[in-house]
Amino acid sequence: MRTYKTIRHLQNRLDRYRKEGKSIGFVPTMGALHQGHISLIEQSNKKSDITVCSIFVNPTQFNVKEDLDKYPRTEVQDAEMLKKAGCDILFLPTENVIYPPNQDNSYHVDFGDLEKVMEGAHRPGHFAGVAQVLKRFLDIVNPSAMYMGQKDYQQFTIVRALLKHLKSKTKLVMGETVREADGLAMSSRNVRLTKKERSIAPLISKALFDAKSKLGKKSIAKIKKEALEQLDIPEFRVEYFEIADGISLQAIKSLDGVKTAVACTVVHLGKVRLIDNVILK
Ligand code: AMP
Repeated sequence: MRTYKTIRHLQNRLDRYRKEGKSIGFVPTMGALHQGHISLIEQSNKKSDITVCSIFVNPTQFNVKEDLDKYPRTEVQDAEMLKKAGCDILFLPTENVIYPPNQDNSYHVDFGDLEKVMEGAHRPGHFAGVAQVLKRFLDIVNPSAMYMGQKDYQQFTIVRALLKHLKSKTKLVMGETVREADGLAMSSRNVRLTKKERSIAPLISKALFDAKSKLGKKSIAKIKKEALEQLDIPEFRVEYFEIADGISLQAIKSLDGVKTAVACTVVHLGKVRLIDNVILK
């Protein structure tokens, strides 16, 4: 695996691969890698000739400074994991490389209703930051395919809209959420849970999977009410639990005319904000 910190060196290498007719798969991450990230690398390895992984903790997508400051950083271990997984290129830019001080780094796309709900409603500016950093990475890497996780379902939907807006040729591929044996969705933030918090965290995915098992048997309102009851324990602070149309992301009241539905939740446990979702249909 080759590691690049500058755009010029990375692009020289990628241009050489392109001239050889090789396809480039890209997995953007913020590091503190786990099997969820690695599963995306493995998918890219299977479908693309060359896999590029970026690690960049993007400050513009954090709306809470403490979350950014406490975001785990495990670069050495990450590089080892990527090497083992067969990643070809690790791109490790600094903030000045991604947002050069002498350049206008502003970028804005109006995602309409997609960004007004769930994460968009609770994390002001988050998706603007996500779009800004991904536009930059797409310009730099220009991948044939980009691999992103279902774990951040709304982010995936926003990125799909971004690629459409850019008329980009990059194909967007969704990787299934990888979970711990007890159902907890893998997340870089899980290491910040205490032992006690970690032991109750799987109740979040249980509420989501239980909701899925009730689909078609109970009303959406009842399913949502029961999920909120399940999550109503002193250790949890539920930010939202929504059952939404999987395409428009707007909350639904019934399955009539709905092609795909998704249950999405965010729960605060101790100092950690945990996000998860299950595709219901
Ligand atoms: P992050 O480093 O958290 O920004 O995540 C980088 C990419 O990995 C995003 O596309 C995430 O959706 C994806 N990802 C994070 N956790 C998981 C998981 N448990 N399973 C699958 N993909 C994941």
